[in-house]
Amino acid sequence: MTKHRPRGDLNRWHTLRLQTLVVFMLLCLDTGILQAQPSGFMEIAPGIYLRPGIQQNFSSHNRGHIANIGFIVGKQAVAVIDTGSSYQEGLALRQAIREITALPIEYVILTHMHPDHTLGAAAFDQDKPVYIGHAQLKDALIRRQTYYLDRLKEVLGSTAEGTRLALPSAGVEIDQEVKLELGDRILELQAYPTARTNNDLSIYDRNSGTLWLSDLLFVERTPVVDGSLLGWLKVIDDLDQREAIRVVPGHGPVVNEWKEALADQRRYLEALLSGIRKIVRKNGTIEQAIERVGQEEKDNWLLFDEYHGRNVTASFVELEWE
Ligand SMILES: [Zn+2]
Repeated sequence: MTKHRPRGDLNRWHTLRLQTLVVFMLLCLDTGILQAQPSGFMEIAPGIYLRPGIQQNFSSHNRGHIANIGFIVGKQAVAVIDTGSSYQEGLALRQAIREITALPIEYVILTHMHPDHTLGAAAFDQDKPVYIGHAQLKDALIRRQTYYLDRLKEVLGSTAEGTRLALPSAGVEIDQEVKLELGDRILELQAYPTARTNNDLSIYDRNSGTLWLSDLLFVERTPVVDGSLLGWLKVIDDLDQREAIRVVPGHGPVVNEWKEALADQRRYLEALLSGIRKIVRKNGTIEQAIERVGQEEKDNWLLFDEYHGRNVTASFVELEWE
């Protein structure tokens, strides 16, 4: 016989449990523990799972978990989107997938070359997936692999163990239409001309209206130019014409009001552009540009001091001879 609690008790018990849960969640939000729960993944739309990256610099403290990574589950297959910064992070991602579904992992999509997005990929070798990225991704990874792997070992120490490169077996050309079928859902892949990097790729899930822009959009965190400032601004113009219900950035929270986030990023990049052009026109130096350009944006972005100077330097070199 089942023992029933008196209804009043049950309500009180539910209220207490709810209060405890709310307090726990608030504590978690405050300390960032929410991201470190067993698998750390949240379902942001039906069948779309995201492990939010920590908004910090790559370090042994955060074990390199700084990028948004995730996966999409269809009726017949799974596609991974970005794999984290180490073999271990890739294995944890694979484990999270296996806790949710036993379907085959057919695709591992890499949104661009950066190590916090790509270096966990080899954890999926056992699934024999199609590793897919921008047509220029393979070359970009090969050229940087020694630097990426050495740096990873230096920062993460033993956490980096087992990490190796998994190169894309398929490439998406700019203007090529590539669709991946997962059964009941189709993912549209798009490769871009040089913008954030020279190998940016986005993924659009038609079923849920989710556009995974990865590092083409930074939310809250200082955008980092590692391709072309002018190219990125052009791509932002194109993205602004698109429709999507939600956007997954490479760093920062998922956004529904994503055009606003895109406008914030544009404002920052335009501040770089106009500030540097002004200094170049007066035959000013990079040092002057680093000191003066875009300082009004300082309070709008996380990690500004870590990345802004680098952005000015890279963009100065790009704009110096235009
Ligand atoms: Zn990133």
